[in-house]
Amino acid sequence: MLDLVIRNGLVVNAGGTQRADIGVAGETIVQLGRDIAGATREIDAAGLYVMPGGVDVHTHLDLDLPGFQTAEDFRSGTVAAACGGTTTIVDFCQQRHGQSLREALDIWQAKAAGKAVTDYGFHIVVTDMNADVEKELAGLPAQGVTSFKLFMAYKDAQMVDDRTMLRTFDVARREGALVMVHAENGDAADYLIEKAVAAGNLSTFNHALTRPPRVESEATGRAIALAEMAGAPVYIVHLTCGDALDAVIAGRRRNVDVIAETCTHYLFGTQDDLARPDFEGAKWVLTPPLRTRKDQELLWQSLGNGTLSVVSSDDASWPFEGQKRQADFTRIPNGAPGIEERMIMTYQGVNRGHFNVNRFVEIVSTNPACLFGLAPKKGAVAVGADADIVLWDPEAETVITQSKLNHAVDFTLFEGQKVKGLPRCVVRRGEVIVENGRFCGATGGGRFIRRSRYRR
Ligand SMILES: [Zn+2]
Repeated sequence: MLDLVIRNGLVVNAGGTQRADIGVAGETIVQLGRDIAGATREIDAAGLYVMPGGVDVHTHLDLDLPGFQTAEDFRSGTVAAACGGTTTIVDFCQQRHGQSLREALDIWQAKAAGKAVTDYGFHIVVTDMNADVEKELAGLPAQGVTSFKLFMAYKDAQMVDDRTMLRTFDVARREGALVMVHAENGDAADYLIEKAVAAGNLSTFNHALTRPPRVESEATGRAIALAEMAGAPVYIVHLTCGDALDAVIAGRRRNVDVIAETCTHYLFGTQDDLARPDFEGAKWVLTPPLRTRKDQELLWQSLGNGTLSVVSSDDASWPFEGQKRQADFTRIPNGAPGIEERMIMTYQGVNRGHFNVNRFVEIVSTNPACLFGLAPKKGAVAVGADADIVLWDPEAETVITQSKLNHAVDFTLFEGQKVKGLPRCVVRRGEVIVENGRFCGATGGGRFIRRSRYRR
């Protein structure tokens, strides 16, 4: 007898849509079709889309910076993720200066173990490169950590130089890893911030003025050039503007394997949000900064035409009260929440005609799963895949508001947005963990996923 059957739904994968029932045994999808026999539990999905669980490959849960701590830990953050339809996350494990990669990973494993309710993996953020770290890095793909992250910004903190980037790209090419790059020219941003401060320009809007599009696009072009020199693929995280898109397109024209991601907030906010009164603008301080309406339109188009491959949340849940509410823009921690809202907000692109529902599944689940070594277990509703399933109601409507969300942080960037299309029920490896929008699973049910090597 099967453990779970989902009947009467419309199965939506990146590659197509079909009317089919789904049979689950244990944690795995074992049947897809008609006339599936009875099961211990049956779910009627009439009128609903049956989609693979979301995969969010850009989160910062349980992160601390000097004086700041995110509101979400691995329990609250993954509960929020699950309530929004996401069943797997890949979080950034941060190497601190002087630390080995092993030490950093042990810390992150301890943060997640026994808490996470979605499955999870880690990218390693390389900040301190030396011969020992280089050797360690080469050994990580065999341990299921198949992506490395580099920051070209945040001078005197995570920022690395071009030599470190080349060394990392070299290891990635040899070992089958994907290098993710935060592309902003850290020296330029640092200099522009220093000038603004000297002139007494401390209001929140200066966050955008001190990190203009060229700060991002110059670094994007340079990251792609360095990847090209090493013969390695490169993944540009949180791309925001047309100028940076041009750099991606130019790289592809030279046959560089460039993949680019954008994040939910760039699809809805603009730099004008930074000027909101009563310190509200501080909520929108994230990096790279929000751009113009025109850039926003280009991002939606690029998700539709394939120039952009992934929408991630870049969830960094610094609370507004006590942390982000600051008068001086240089003191506001960069980042905003969005792990729960990501799929719902991105789905609005289907309603607005930017892409169809198959493409939606592709950019929030299938592409991130394939690029980061989670496929074929994740990212598709298919026989043999993990039973990570979202039942999505395309007709359900609501207004996003803080009190209705499940996250722990004290605000949402999408307050007041009218949305259509909501997750109703979420299954993670065969277990129903969200019903009627509420988490009903057990703390710690998520599992560390050893990801496979990058292949194109
Ligand atoms: Zn980030």
